[in-house]
Amino acid sequence: MRREVVDERDTNKNRPLGVQRLFRVALLLLTVLVIILGILISWGWLTMIQMPGESYRGELPPLTQKEVALRDALQRDVEKLAGEIGERNFLHYKELMAAADFLDASFAQAGYKVQRQGYTVDNQTYYNLEVEIPGTQRADEIVIIGGHYDSVSGSPGANDNGTGAAATLELARLFAGKKPERTLRFVEFVNEEPPFFFSEGMGSIVYASRCKQRSEKVVAMLSLETIGYYSDKIGSQRYPLPQLSSIYPLQGNFISFVGNVDSGSLVTDAIASFRRHTKFPSEGTALPNEITGVSWSDQWSFWQQGYPGIMVTDTAPFRYPYYHTSNDTPDKVNYDRLARVVVGLEYAIADLSGLSQPGM
Ligand SMILES: [Zn+2]
Repeated sequence: MRREVVDERDTNKNRPLGVQRLFRVALLLLTVLVIILGILISWGWLTMIQMPGESYRGELPPLTQKEVALRDALQRDVEKLAGEIGERNFLHYKELMAAADFLDASFAQAGYKVQRQGYTVDNQTYYNLEVEIPGTQRADEIVIIGGHYDSVSGSPGANDNGTGAAATLELARLFAGKKPERTLRFVEFVNEEPPFFFSEGMGSIVYASRCKQRSEKVVAMLSLETIGYYSDKIGSQRYPLPQLSSIYPLQGNFISFVGNVDSGSLVTDAIASFRRHTKFPSEGTALPNEITGVSWSDQWSFWQQGYPGIMVTDTAPFRYPYYHTSNDTPDKVNYDRLARVVVGLEYAIADLSGLSQPGM
């Protein structure tokens, strides 16, 4: 009887001690978990924002002869698309077709055989335009450079995306007759803008789906999206997340390479090459595609098919005051800087497509 009482007392004493110990162990586990989580988040964050090389910060050197010629060609293309032709989309179908014809004829003039991929939505037929240089060594591996040539409703679309369409065309001209190891394609996409955006009627969705159906191995896709507006003014650059403005510049004077997390290595490869060869400010990031703006162009369509894709952009709505307005006119584009960016892209594309002697 007595012994039982003692035992009971011991048990009563032990009970709060046990709870305390349990509490301590749980606290320790929680601390370890928080530390691991912290390390994982920092590592993830670093892989998303840590880029190879350094952005160019000095004064821009004088334009080379080649850059001057390219600047003039880009200006002519943008003025043709956004000035002479103007608003071009499903509501301005005649103009959309005129833009397609202009790009088609320009590709042909550069020596390419142009493929038109047509599809019909609501009784109107739309065309993606494609030219190809077959790879010499790894022809099954395909690098795609593309930009959309339609403009949003109510806008002549000089920067968005006359610049991307013009750059796609001029890059095709620069690569004409070259012999890359990988297959290189230049594609002018139709219907990127609403109401087709993120829908089956989007030109790049139709195109990327066909790649998948044909079991094509797209190893890299670069979407040239709104690449012609630059400002040195502090505060001219905004970001979708406030945290990003403590990491990235406040001057909108750089070109950016944006991918989703799965396309992280393509972002780093492309920007590393751009920075090696180009004296022009550049920033890169591989962010979750849920973050506002990250998926806002034709690279999204390639992600849907499991292909790596990145957007090269001046960040459009986060910098350009005339984004999606009637004032997105050819005079707003900085052709000098656009030419510098396109030459840098030429190097990056040469590296991505395995052109060891680009002759540039
Ligand atoms: Zn656009």
